[in-house]
Order: sequence, then structure tokens, then C-alpha cells
Amino acid sequence: MADVVIAGSGFAGLTAAIKLKRLLRHSGHRITVVARDATFVYRPSLVLLAFGKKSLKDITFDLRTIYKRTRIHFVEAAITSINPEAQTLMTDQGPIKYDKLIVALGEKLAYDEVPGLREHGYNVCTPDGALALKDALTRYHGGPTVVGWAQNVQTGGPAFEVALELEEWMKDHKVAGSIDFVDPLPKLWAPAGPEATEFLTKVFAERHITRHGPVQIKEVKADRVILSNGEELPSVLTIITPPFRGEDAQKSLAGDNPRDWLETGKDMQSVRYPDIYVAGSAVAFEGPKQGHTAMLQAETAVYNLTQDLLETGKPHKLYDHEMSCVLDLGTGEGLFVRRSLWSQEHQEFKIGRQWPLAKAALAYTFVHTPVFKKWGLSMPK
Ligand SMILES: Cc1cc2nc3c(=O)[nH]c(=O)nc-3n(C[C@H](O)[C@H](O)[C@H](O)COP(=O)(O)OP(=O)(O)OC[C@H]3O[C@@H](n4cnc5c(N)ncnc54)[C@H](O)[C@@H]3O)c2cc1C
Repeated sequence: MADVVIAGSGFAGLTAAIKLKRLLRHSGHRITVVARDATFVYRPSLVLLAFGKKSLKDITFDLRTIYKRTRIHFVEAAITSINPEAQTLMTDQGPIKYDKLIVALGEKLAYDEVPGLREHGYNVCTPDGALALKDALTRYHGGPTVVGWAQNVQTGGPAFEVALELEEWMKDHKVAGSIDFVDPLPKLWAPAGPEATEFLTKVFAERHITRHGPVQIKEVKADRVILSNGEELPSVLTIITPPFRGEDAQKSLAGDNPRDWLETGKDMQSVRYPDIYVAGSAVAFEGPKQGHTAMLQAETAVYNLTQDLLETGKPHKLYDHEMSCVLDLGTGEGLFVRRSLWSQEHQEFKIGRQWPLAKAALAYTFVHTPVFKKWGLSMPK
């Protein structure tokens, strides 16, 4: 009987756990999920939390209930390191041994890489961050603002939504302010394709949001943002996503990856440690890191890990990197983009009022019904 351990319980870890339970039922293998927080946060709704359109309760649920109902062993613990030779996770609750491991630890926000960002900047990457911004908005009575994301961020969409929500918020609250938008990409929202770039450029122009880019953030001061090209943007409210890097706990598996991401093949198996699979933001792939990609990767990882464990001899399935997202323009309209980044399989670009509604319905379903059929997240029998 093997011990299969999943490190992390966000989009990737939760998907992996429930899928694995289904695939390994009747096999006798044990599944354990380890995460430092027993609350699942539906991160795509954090922008709405910041702008007072959702409460924390609307966008979170208790993982213990899900794992109890699915009879998956859940350990609430902070992982401090992973020893691949001893096949052990070191945690603040003691060591946990594994035979097979799925690493799904998400990303770390590397504030230290941009001086002043922690002290003078806001972001919507965590519930605390979103709530701090909500509070800051009560003290904002106008003036220049800077929104965007720093170098090495691989999730840009939220910053667009923040800029668009902020512009609506200024109008609603009759506050006179300006929005400068900063990002490091060669073109605005480049990974979403030329149609998305063109559309968003038009929307930004209509809504008087001025883009500065491609540019990196050198420093954030209380009253301005200093860019890598020497430009200084005055700002009384700075909302910038900090750089991403791999969680400290996975450092020991990252080899010489400069940002501590874990390298895998397209089958999501670690290139260094065959008993380890990786899914979600923890993976070293270029391009957007999304909840969507995290779930697809988790499905691939789980399928392949199961074939190894059960020695079926079936070939590994391969993951196809694709982004899929709805950008809520904050006006009732939205944009849907689905794009395969390694192949031409999906290239969709649609605009309409149905997309924000679809996004809201998806968020509601995810948080309120753990039975999320599209992804096969129904309860194991
Ligand atoms: C504001 C915002 C809006 C977004 N909008 C979208 C969207 O519209 N569509 C989309 O697809 N994606 C969106 N994303 C991106 C998406 O949320 C992330 O890509 C996704 O959360 C990554 O999933 P993950 O499972 O890899 O990591 P996470 O969801 O971050 O989960 C990481 C897990 O690991 C655990 N963990 C981390 N470190 C440790 C440790 N040391 N010990 C124990 N446990 C640990 C955490 O507790 C958590 O359970 C958005 C993100 C943000 C911030």
C-alpha cells in the first residue's frame, strides 16, 4: 500500500486530490493532502472582494468539509522543506513520508525584489491584500494612481480587472483621479493574442487608462512609482502585483531553476525525481499561470501518477498549455479568451454581456457546490 501525498490544496491540489480519490478507489493506496490553510480561496473573485462587490464568505469554503466527505486525509500544516531522497515532507506538525508526491504549492509573492512595494503598494493576490485595498479605497479621495504588475509575474489578468474596476469606482464615487498602467510585456496582454491586445488597447483609451510598457518596476515610494526606464509616475494609490517565484518549501526540488519553479515534462512528472509530479503555479512553464491551467495540469499529473502506481503500462498523457479566461470589464461587458499556447487547438476570442455572467456563475458553482462536474470533481462513490 503506497502513500500518495499532495502538497497544497489550491486549484491544482484540490483537483488532484479528488481526481486521485476517484482513480485509486478500491486500490487501498492512501491519499493525504497537506496545506497550511484549511480555507479554499476562489482567487479570481479577490478583485470583487477589494471593490466591495463580494464578501470573504462569498469566495471561500472550508476544505475540511470537502475532505471529510470524500474521506481524504487532510493535514493542516506548513511545509518547510521537501527531502526527495528520504521521500519526506518536513512540516511544522512533524515529518510526513510519501511514496508518490504531487507538488501544488502555488507561487510566492517576492516583495523583496521591488524596494518599497510591500510598504507602499497594494495587490489582490490574497484575501488580506484585497481587504487592505478595500480599506485603502475608503481613504482615497482622488489623485494619480498606478496599477499593473511587476516583472516575473505570470498572472496579468487581475491587474486589468483592477484598473477597469478602479475607473468605474472613481466614476461612481465622483472622485477625480488618473490611472497609469504598467506591465513588462512586449504588448498589452500579449499571451492572449493580437485581437485581445487590440481590444484592450481600445478599452484603455476609451477609459483614459494610460499604459506604460514594456517596463519593469524599479522602486515604489509613498508618492510615486519609479520605472526601469527612469520614468517616475506620481501615485497616491499604487496597486501592483509583486513578482512571482516558487515557494521556499520546494527549493530543494528546483535544482538550478533561477526562480525556484519545478521543471517537468509535458506529462507533469518532475524531470529530476520520477516519484514526484507537479501541477499549478509551482511548475516551471513559461506563460500564464492560471487556475484553469492548474486544474488541467493536475488532471494530467494524477492520470500519469496513477498509471505508474498501478503499473498499467499505459503511456503517459501529455498536457497542452492553454489559457482560458474571462476579463470582466466592470461595465456588464466581458471578454472571453481561450488559447492553446503550444498548439493551435483552441483560438477563441469573444466579447459580450454573457461572459461576466458566466464568470460569476462559475465562481458561485465552484464555491457553493463541491460537485463541479465539468472537471469531474464529483464526490467519489
Ligand atoms: C486576483 C486574481 C484573479 C485571478 N483570476 C483568475 C481567473 O479569472 N482565471 C484563472 O484561471 N486564474 C485566475 N487567477 C490565477 C489563479 O488563481 C492561480 O493561477 C491559481 O490559484 C494557482 O493555483 P495553484 O493550485 O497552483 O496555487 P494556489 O491556488 O495558490 O494554491 C497553493 C496551495 O498551496 C498551499 N501552500 C503554499 N505554500 C505552502 C506551504 N509552505 N505549506 C503548506 N501549504 C502551502 C496553499 O495553502 C494552497 O493550498 C487569478 C489570481 C488572482 C490573484
